[in-house]
Amino acid sequence: MDTPFYHIPYFPAFDRMTPENATAAFEKLLPEARAAVDGLEKKFSPSWSGLVRPLHEACHPLFDAWNILNHMLSVMNSDAWRHAQEALQPDIVAFSLRVGQSRAFYDGYLALRAADQANPCLTPVQRRMLVKTIQGAEQAGVGLAQPQQSRFNAIQLELAQLSTTFRNNVLDATRAFALVLRTRAEADGLPPALLAVAAQAAREAGEAQATPEGGPWRITLDSAVYVPFMMHSRNRTARESVYRAYVARASSGAIDNTPNIERSLALRRELAQLLGYGTYADLSLSTKTAQTVAAVDSLIAQLAEASRDAGHREADALLAFANRLGFAEKTLQPWDIAFWSERQREALYDYSDEELSRYFLFPRVLEGLFGLAQRLFGIVITPADGEAPVWHPDVRFFRVSDSDGTPRACFYLDPYSRPATKSGGAWMNDFRTRERCADGSLKLPMALLVCNQSVPVNGAPPVMRFNEVNTLFHEFGHALQHMLTTVDEPSASGVNGIEWDAVEVASQFMENWCYDRATLKGLSRHAETGAELPDALFDKIVAAKNYRAATGMLRQLFFAATDMDLYARYPRAEWPDPDAVKRFNAAKLLPTPLLPEDRFLCSFSHIFSGAYAAGYYSYKWSEVLSADAFAAFEEAGLDNDAAVRSTGRRYRDTVLALGGGTNPADVFRQFRGRAPSIEALLRHSGLRTRAPSSQKK
Ligand SMILES: [Zn+2]
Repeated sequence: MDTPFYHIPYFPAFDRMTPENATAAFEKLLPEARAAVDGLEKKFSPSWSGLVRPLHEACHPLFDAWNILNHMLSVMNSDAWRHAQEALQPDIVAFSLRVGQSRAFYDGYLALRAADQANPCLTPVQRRMLVKTIQGAEQAGVGLAQPQQSRFNAIQLELAQLSTTFRNNVLDATRAFALVLRTRAEADGLPPALLAVAAQAAREAGEAQATPEGGPWRITLDSAVYVPFMMHSRNRTARESVYRAYVARASSGAIDNTPNIERSLALRRELAQLLGYGTYADLSLSTKTAQTVAAVDSLIAQLAEASRDAGHREADALLAFANRLGFAEKTLQPWDIAFWSERQREALYDYSDEELSRYFLFPRVLEGLFGLAQRLFGIVITPADGEAPVWHPDVRFFRVSDSDGTPRACFYLDPYSRPATKSGGAWMNDFRTRERCADGSLKLPMALLVCNQSVPVNGAPPVMRFNEVNTLFHEFGHALQHMLTTVDEPSASGVNGIEWDAVEVASQFMENWCYDRATLKGLSRHAETGAELPDALFDKIVAAKNYRAATGMLRQLFFAATDMDLYARYPRAEWPDPDAVKRFNAAKLLPTPLLPEDRFLCSFSHIFSGAYAAGYYSYKWSEVLSADAFAAFEEAGLDNDAAVRSTGRRYRDTVLALGGGTNPADVFRQFRGRAPSIEALLRHSGLRTRAPSSQKK
């Protein structure tokens, strides 16, 4: 069949892919996959080579094509791609459920586990993946008898609907509010970029005469407007009404999320109990490295303890700063915080993002990043543009090999923003996973890094903003973990099979190098003068990173603790409703109180319509591990090249090599020789003034 989506070769023909030939391929791929799975279900033997591998192979051509189709949608979006994807989605979801909920396969996994227990026949990696597969099937309800299974499916369906309703209510509430400013005085303080966006919004709302210079300006709750407005508006009355609207989103009238919160919590409790767990938090944590509510509680308590006093000092310092600059009251209200923080930040670190970006030329940043990977991990990265088809002329292609020339992996880099056709944000996609095939041959991993850097215009040099440099390092960290894996089982190799609260370790680890003086100075040069990054500017970048670090930390801990309490301990007598849980944690953790009218739970989409229910703590959990991993390099001495190299090899052979094949907690212990500690994260955040005495420097 002549379509590039049908049984996609190692190098996909991205340059020939169209929505039409995708649709045509799925017309054959779907029935083929169904037939292969049906056939296997009737005659498999409960062994790794008789069940797990053949099932992977039966599904692979379909899932591979689906992955690539979604990739094309995210980088070359059009109505035609969207329609093709939407038309196929229900069939793909149904097929995945059918495989995941197969009683026959589940019984096969149990038989394989029993056989392995009686007479070990699996490798440790296979054993771990089998445990996860069985757990996944059980948590999909496969082991339930009737009528529990029907109830389970009904709960899943209702939760999916609640999640959509919750998200739509937040969107509708965000759109429903607008404050129109009509005079220059009312718009005092707003930067030109925000005036332009707000005038545009006014024109779209029917005020055709609106201009960036003369208004009117429409202020909305969309984060691209809300965030800069709260930072820059000198109109305190306007800030107050916008703030009040923001924290009350989706909390009243026809789009009130209050009943949806209560219902979601109750359904998740019931779901967990059907599956034999005490609470939804127990169910969620059973697939994560933290494992227990007590472990999460302990992390939150330790970080809170270390940040509380600093948080109060930051609040006092901000009030004193505002008072010195003419703020006459004794308390900053919630709508004053962002405004005065921004003024204080400007006063403390007087450099602009614009000025800093002159030092980061894209080709040189890339060279510096690859040089760092070469130094740390002993790999060589070579440009190989033209050796593999690409979907857009901006896309680059690279090969990765060991220092002796042995090929290890390859990757694409799609660096620039294309607002009309490419999704926002940045991500890493795994096109190919390392796999030892049945004939003994080895399939090498292939990764994709997508960024949305600013595009150089009119022959200007391709400079990057500092946060774009950070993002590139972050995504490259994910890609390194995917590419330097040594695991041969596709379900556990690279970034596959890693627990949710540990997937951001390898990526955040790389970000640390953006704050390493030698690394950053090595990859920077002024675009016009060629001058190197001044030490004073580097010091400001590091200091600015930690500006109000305790306040930021406490806010994240407040979210994490509220999430955990709602799914582990609610309801109880002293908490009549979910809002009481929020107030309890706010009083315990936040340096400045919330408004009594604050209803932020009604827009807390992460835990009510995202994947973070009883999992918000994952952000901090990963950050503790990545900071502590970087501390191993600091202890070895960042200016001791031999020590950095040997620590880098150890990191490559543990964190990067073992991927999802070994529990991340064990992998960390192999790298570090001990369990993780929060000290490095606190020190990097400026919340510990000195390194503790147990460390060398
Ligand atoms: Zn990431």
